[in-house]
Amino acid sequence: MLFQGWRQYLDLVFPRSCSLCRRPIVGSRSPTLCGHCQQRIKPIVHSCRKCGAPKASGEQQSEFETDIGKSKSSKRSCRFCQKQDWDINRVFAYTVYSGSSAHAARLCKDSMHESLARSLADSIGEWLDQRDDFLPICYDYIIPIPQHWFRRLMFRYHPASVFAMGLAGRFGIPMNESYLKRSRWTTKQGLKTISERRESIRDAFAVSNPKKIEYRSVLLVDDVMTSGGTLADAARALKAAGARQVDAVVFARGISAGKPQPPSPPNESRMQKAHVLHSYQSSATAEELRRRLH
Ligand SMILES: [Zn+2]
Ligand SMILES: [Zn+2]
Repeated sequence: MLFQGWRQYLDLVFPRSCSLCRRPIVGSRSPTLCGHCQQRIKPIVHSCRKCGAPKASGEQQSEFETDIGKSKSSKRSCRFCQKQDWDINRVFAYTVYSGSSAHAARLCKDSMHESLARSLADSIGEWLDQRDDFLPICYDYIIPIPQHWFRRLMFRYHPASVFAMGLAGRFGIPMNESYLKRSRWTTKQGLKTISERRESIRDAFAVSNPKKIEYRSVLLVDDVMTSGGTLADAARALKAAGARQVDAVVFARGISAGKPQPPSPPNESRMQKAHVLHSYQSSATAEELRRRLH
């Protein structure tokens, strides 16, 4: 209450401006968005419990959303999830990538707008806090989707890390940025088709220390989920290293994401290792595991 009063006083003396529309922020709960813009970034209420896709509601729906709404064989996942075989257990997507949320996501990619990314991380945290199906205690690590080391060296700022840091602090989950590496430089995804994006991102990640990942549960964080290929590939690398569970949180989700993924890459030895590790979780001893892997 005292903070609110002080904030309102400061707003009158030094008015802040909204990151999106530049209008003065007065009495808004967000330090970076006016009340109007904040309302336009709507959290997804009903979503697929696997890929985070919004479920159909109202009259105007895209073909994709309508398809999801027609799903009858499972109340938990959409028809696309039922068809595809990806290594990510579930995605918590805060909002749909369109309009103001897309504008905010684009701004967050610029270090000038780090404060916007931090305030959006707070909003995501509040939204996750209210969900019965989000249990922070389940996760051993929170890992932002990594940049290639060269890009990190050049730009330093990385929006996924800002989102991850906000969530790690709020939920008390250790954040780690060294176990998962981007092993290959990937070009900008913006102008590519969905299939081109998935192809370019394939096998772009590697786990630096598999022993730290084995049997652990990981929460990946990214700012935007476009085709879903980046998250799926990162999850594949973590599962191949023995991760027990890989979930993800994203700020904004493209509604064309979640369409059926192409078949898994033909890297059989790695997939066999992942299969062995998974089967180990229920039955084998450590000694037996070593024998089966060598
Ligand atoms: Zn605004
Ligand atoms: Zn789904």
